[in-house]
Amino acid sequence: MKILANRMDLGFKKHQDEYEEAAIRVLRSGWYILGKEMQSFEEEFAAYNSITSSKNKADSFCCTGITEQCDSTKVYCAGVASGLDALWIGIRMLGIGAGDEVIVQGNTYIASVMGITMNGATPVFVEPDENSQIDIDAIEKNITDKTKAVMVVHLYGQVTDMTRIVDICKRNGLYLIEDCAQAHGAMWKGQKVGTFGDVGCFSFYPTKNMGAFGDAGAVISHDPNFIEEVKTYRNYGSHKHYYNKVVGANSRLDEMQAALLKVRLKYMDEITDERRKLAQRYSERINNADIITPVEVDNSYAVWHQYVIRCKSRDKLIEYLNEKNIGSIIHYPVPPHLQEAYAYLGHKEGEYPITEEYAKEVLSIPMYNGMSEEEQDYVIDALNGFKCD
Ligand SMILES: *Cc1c(COP(=O)(O)O)cnc(C)c1O
Repeated sequence: MKILANRMDLGFKKHQDEYEEAAIRVLRSGWYILGKEMQSFEEEFAAYNSITSSKNKADSFCCTGITEQCDSTKVYCAGVASGLDALWIGIRMLGIGAGDEVIVQGNTYIASVMGITMNGATPVFVEPDENSQIDIDAIEKNITDKTKAVMVVHLYGQVTDMTRIVDICKRNGLYLIEDCAQAHGAMWKGQKVGTFGDVGCFSFYPTKNMGAFGDAGAVISHDPNFIEEVKTYRNYGSHKHYYNKVVGANSRLDEMQAALLKVRLKYMDEITDERRKLAQRYSERINNADIITPVEVDNSYAVWHQYVIRCKSRDKLIEYLNEKNIGSIIHYPVPPHLQEAYAYLGHKEGEYPITEEYAKEVLSIPMYNGMSEEEQDYVIDALNGFKCD
């Protein structure tokens, strides 16, 4: 048996007719950018994330107030060209820039950090907790006069204690930014991620739980004026055709991706459900003292973008799995503070020991929609037969 770390073709094939119908509709429409498909996608994605749709809402959110209009029961959405652009523009529209600090977990994907530094702001790294999420106890120790925001990355589709994070942001007058690129539909106490803070940033890169068929992203907020600003910025700073309010960008969600994403969105609950079952099955059946399996913390609803195990002899485990034709991926081998791109920040090896340890130990095992029990059992048996020394 040969098992790939990820499969994108199966999700397409499951609803192939609908995807093809959507694509043909766009091709034949004669309208490809800034049209009805994007507009209806924005409305549907906002509704999907709306906290009013959940029975058991966490009743806490932090909207530091870009304008007076924040209404916790409403969610607004702007489509953009990618997840990185969602972060870059979302952070920019909060007015965060040079001289400002943003607190972020050290073990995140580099794009979270680039969203900060593209605006000229400085990332302040904190270590992850035992669940690979931001160490909440470390946040307040890192607040300075320059701190403007906390960015929470719902890494691997997991969710941490958002009640505590919202409280810290409120008490310290900080913006709360959520990087939801790996966590579409994940919840804390029944409330969807992306709605706890001032801005929620999503990626629809093809491998994400809610994948497009190319690059795509979105920004959500409780503040309609903020979303209007994002919409202006993404289109050359133009609020009205050929009238430009600000120097903006070209970062639009195109009609093709929007139409395809509307199909994906219809099946998100099904997609999440299937991933949760796969994760549960892994957690119940992987039984090896040398392998640490991930957990879903109380009150959270994880969407399992990745199933990330930890192992002291990770590199040996990869080789062992390769021999059995089982793919795996390291998310991520080099943490942002040690990347060449961020040499200018002046960080040194050993500065963030937990982040660095995780980079040596984490491994994402095969996990994709459409994975069969037979395939999963093959991976489980292999893992249970692995010996560390
Ligand atoms: C994928 C990802 C991004 C970037 O999204 P793109 O659409 O690839 O630009 C940002 N943050 C995290 C945590 C991601 O996983």
